[in-house]
Amino acid sequence: MASERESGEQEAGRQVALVSGAGRGIGLGIALKLADAGFSIAVNDCNDSADLDDAVKQIEAKGVKAIKLVADISDLSTHGALFDRAEASLGAVTTLVNNAGVSVFERGDLLEVCEASYDRCMGVNAKALFFLSQEYARRALKAKRSSDLFYSLINITSSNAVAASVLRSEYCASKAAAAMISKCFAVRLAQEAIAVYDVQPGLIETPMTQSVRDVYQNRIEQEGLVPLARLGQPDDMGGIVASLASGSLPYTTGQTISADGGMLISRF
Ligand code: NAP
Repeated sequence: MASERESGEQEAGRQVALVSGAGRGIGLGIALKLADAGFSIAVNDCNDSADLDDAVKQIEAKGVKAIKLVADISDLSTHGALFDRAEASLGAVTTLVNNAGVSVFERGDLLEVCEASYDRCMGVNAKALFFLSQEYARRALKAKRSSDLFYSLINITSSNAVAASVLRSEYCASKAAAAMISKCFAVRLAQEAIAVYDVQPGLIETPMTQSVRDVYQNRIEQEGLVPLARLGQPDDMGGIVASLASGSLPYTTGQTISADGGMLISRF
């Protein structure tokens, strides 16, 4: 972890978001929209890279503070330090966005799924999300008592939390687990008015989906797979998360947001 400024103090009225896996793709789209909404941003990603530095620069160009926090969140021993560094540079984290996620090693028959791919999906998409949420919650419960800011925990799960893609069964299982974790945290944190949301993206154009982009684009054009008739963009996901994190949905918690262009609407 590196490159924090030594400011420390939370700017008055300024929310702070920690976004995991925000060096590219949906996470970057979320970080940029949260920056537009005035949040200071702690940008976590697995690997230090020029792309990550560029992400920080893009956020700072919007007039807010940003720091990068390089850590593999599947190593739970990094979680405390992630929050320590964010708090030291930006102030208390008011919003955690659990976005970092991995797909399967190889798409294929679930009868051939290997243990390593299963463990990696569960380790990042479910276990790391659970314990990062726990670290956030413990700190938020204390910090919120002396703050008027809106606090929220936002998990990026997937349409696959509810819709089976049998060629990526271990991914589906991990996202279903993450969706239930979101509900449990929603109930636990409701008494402190910390809102919890589960955003379930459908088909979003990112490096993760690059290899199947054309297949889905064709299915959208030829089969009407997505009623809104286009792939989603990281920007779309960012807009949703920024609305939720800004408290635009009062008197809600535990909601699932289907961010899928209507793909999972039952039709016949
Ligand atoms: P992506 O392009 O692969 O980006 C994922 C980011 O997460 C990468 O920057 C990656 O870092 C980081 N990351 C992965 N494992 C990490 C770890 N253990 N610790 C810290 N960072 C880690 O994926 P995406 O499409 O933007 O997806 C973002 C989230 O949305 C994921 O949870 C994904 O499952 C979910 N989602 C995506 C879609 C879609 O259509 N794209 C649909 C539904 C749900 P490195 O590059 O350094 O590995």
